Amino acid sequence: MAHRVTLIPGDGIGPEVSEAAAMAVMAAGAPIEWERVELSARIIEETRQELPEWVLESLRRTRVGLKGPVTTPVGEGFQSVNVALRKQLDLYVNFRPVRSIPGVRTRYSDTFIDLVIFRENTEDLYAGLEHEVVRDVVTSLKVITRAASLRIARYAFQWAQRNRRKRIHAVHKANIMKLGDGLFLRCCREVAREFPDIEYRELIVDNAAMQMVLRPETFDVLLMPNLYGDIVSDLAAGLVGGLGLVPGANLGDDCAVFEAVHGSAPDIAGKGIANPTALMLSAVLMLEHLGETEAARRLRYAIERTYAEGAHLTPDVGGTATTAQFTDAVIRNLEKTPRVGES
Ligand code: ATP
Repeated sequence: MAHRVTLIPGDGIGPEVSEAAAMAVMAAGAPIEWERVELSARIIEETRQELPEWVLESLRRTRVGLKGPVTTPVGEGFQSVNVALRKQLDLYVNFRPVRSIPGVRTRYSDTFIDLVIFRENTEDLYAGLEHEVVRDVVTSLKVITRAASLRIARYAFQWAQRNRRKRIHAVHKANIMKLGDGLFLRCCREVAREFPDIEYRELIVDNAAMQMVLRPETFDVLLMPNLYGDIVSDLAAGLVGGLGLVPGANLGDDCAVFEAVHGSAPDIAGKGIANPTALMLSAVLMLEHLGETEAARRLRYAIERTYAEGAHLTPDVGGTATTAQFTDAVIRNLEKTPRVGES
C-alpha cells in the first residue's frame, strides 16, 4: 500500500530542492503518493493567515510531511510559518543528525563527525511573546516548562538508548537564566537518572560552541532548548560542510514533518544551484519513519556514492554542478544500487 505524504515545496530554493528530493524518493522505489500543498511567504501575505488551514488539514490527514523552507521576514511582518507549524501540530522534537560525508572537503576532513542534536521545538523565546512596553523598550518572554523539557529529554534519552549512543550533553545557560534554564537542566537530570547506561554531562552553551569547533568528534548526542538548538545546529552544519548537507525532522506523537536545517536561501534561489542533499537526507529519515528501510538505505547509499565520486557536486561544496545534475547523478547511482536479494 502506498503511503500518502504531504509535500510542501515552500519558497526560495524550496521548490528546487523539493523537486529533487521527491524525484530521488521515487527512484529509490518507495511507494509514496504525494499530496502537494502550496505554502510560501507570498501566500501568507495574501491570505493574511499565519498558517493556511489546507496545510494543517493535509498534514493532519497524512500525518507525514516532507517540507521545503518557507521565508520568514526579518524584524517585521508575519510570524514564522515553521514555528507556527511546529506549535499547531505539537511537533515537540527537532531531530538533527549531523554526520561527515566522505568526499566533502571541510576544515575537519580528517575527523569523522557523527553527532545528533535534539532541540526542544515548541517554546523558549520562540513562543513569540514580545511586547513593546514603551517606545524603544521591548520585552521578549522566554518560556520554559517542566512538561516540555521532560518530554524532549525523555525522547532524546530513549532515542540514544535505541541507537546505542553513549553520551548526552545537555546544553544550557543556567548560570545566567537560573530559573528558566535551571528548570530545563533539572528535568534533564531527572530523566538522565532513568538511563544509567548513558553518560550524562552538562555544558554552558558558549563553551559548547567552542568545544564543538575544537573537538567535534567528542560529541555524541546534544539536548537543548529551542534557541540554542537553532544556533548550534547551524554551527554543527558548518563543521561537516554547510547547510546544504544537514537533514532534520520535526516529530510529535501524531505527526512528523521532515525538513532540512537550512532556510530559503534567497541569495541563490532560482539559480538552479542549491544543494538538495539536506532535503534528500531528510527524505531518508522520512522513509525510515515510514518503515521503508530498504528504500532509505538505497537512497542514503546513492547520495554517499555521489559524494565519493565527486564529479557532480554543487558549488556550496566546491563543485560546479547544478541541482539537476547532482540529482541525476544520485538517481543514476540508485539505479546501480542493488536491492536486497539482487546480485
Ligand atoms: P533561516 O533563518 O530561515 O533558517 P538562515 O539564516 O539559516 O535561514 P539560509 O537561508 O539557510 O539562512 O542560508 C544561509 C546561507 O547558506 C546562505 O548563504 C545560503 O545560500 C546557504 N545555503 C542554505 N541552504 C543551502 C543549500 N541547500 N544549498 C546551498 N547553499 C545553501
